[in-house]
Amino acid sequence: MSLGQRVGAQAIVGTFLTVATSVAEAEAHIATTRSRFWRRAVKMWTDMHTLPETNPLRRGTDRIRKFRRYHRSPLYQVADSLKHIDMETLETINPFTLAPWDERVQANIDGQLEPQTEAGGLMQIAVSSSARNKLVGFGVAIEKQPPRNRKLKLKTFSITLGARAEQNPFSAELAAMAHVLKMVVGIKDYRTTLLTSNKAAALTLRNPRRQSGQKFVCQTYKLMRRLRTNGNRIKFHWIPTTEDNKLLGLAKEQARTATQEDALPQEHVSRMKSTTLNIARSQAVPSSELLENIGRHAKRVDSALPGKHTRQLYDRLTWKEANVLAQLRTGMARLNGYLNQINVAETDECDCGQARETVEHFLFRCRKWTAHRTEMLQCTQTHRGNISFFLGGKQASDDQKWTPNLEAVRASIRFAIATGRLEAT
Ligand SMILES: [Zn+2]
Repeated sequence: MSLGQRVGAQAIVGTFLTVATSVAEAEAHIATTRSRFWRRAVKMWTDMHTLPETNPLRRGTDRIRKFRRYHRSPLYQVADSLKHIDMETLETINPFTLAPWDERVQANIDGQLEPQTEAGGLMQIAVSSSARNKLVGFGVAIEKQPPRNRKLKLKTFSITLGARAEQNPFSAELAAMAHVLKMVVGIKDYRTTLLTSNKAAALTLRNPRRQSGQKFVCQTYKLMRRLRTNGNRIKFHWIPTTEDNKLLGLAKEQARTATQEDALPQEHVSRMKSTTLNIARSQAVPSSELLENIGRHAKRVDSALPGKHTRQLYDRLTWKEANVLAQLRTGMARLNGYLNQINVAETDECDCGQARETVEHFLFRCRKWTAHRTEMLQCTQTHRGNISFFLGGKQASDDQKWTPNLEAVRASIRFAIATGRLEAT
């Protein structure tokens, strides 16, 4: 599992975590500014929808979307704000585009076109994409020279791929390549050159990564394998737009036809993640008092957030200990102060009736827990009641040499566990 996936998994179960390191990550996100948190959350939410269906996180998205009174996921708000974007039709992106041993295509992005001299059929294919009138489409021009010098054949066509809100010129270029190779996959003994003026697409084919448009790259590779078994050879060639190429010119013309006003999409293609993410991110950050409160609490506990020391704090903690520490440091704790904010508790007042049940009240002041505080008090004479000190946070007044006092942090964790107050009932 990658770090990103772990963070995602953590978010699903609330503050109520899976792996200790992911808590540290999640905590860092919470403490940064609201908009940064929003950007990350939107990305996480989008990423989760591109996971293969077999991934438990992908299957978990339905549960997050539902309103739940208890254990509502922190991602619920993100899901709710983006509900008008159809995430269900997002492309799937697998961890690997190709197996490491798969041969990469030859994509020529610097040299000249080689003269083709050998016997057998020759074919040049040019692809081009267009984005305008809120549409994305591609055009193709194929020049086919069958063996034994039969007549040269020229074929052009265009495909309207979809709305600009779902597709982009880069993915359209990749889609065009997969589409055209599928059309010609029956040929035998041809030497084929595929021309594009989109450098990003050519580079992606040469070195595919875990990225948007992956499906088209996989299709292209599969089709090339089939073509090769029939004695064909295929090369990709990038030609800069400044260079005059007749076939590319024809493809470009076709691409523009595909994006004429009122053109209707002809293919059913998944939404591209990169495009969707851009749109989702451009949505206004929802105003959330809750997120602001959480951010404020975390920053007050620890002015050094986000920092490497968070990892150190959570290292070697058990699941239960990490859970407790994260609750206290983020303020998203099973205490009435927070539960009331998320409408789970009727009141924010502590059962002792003396005050609002905040993290500070719970840790230092509530009379119900006086007997459990001995160990915490023994940790320090000078920092009693100091929330930063007891939760491993840096105060603004601490100097650069500051490091968290891990003994005090452990004492706080033991205190919280001994009270049983933070555990689910
Ligand atoms: Zn109390």
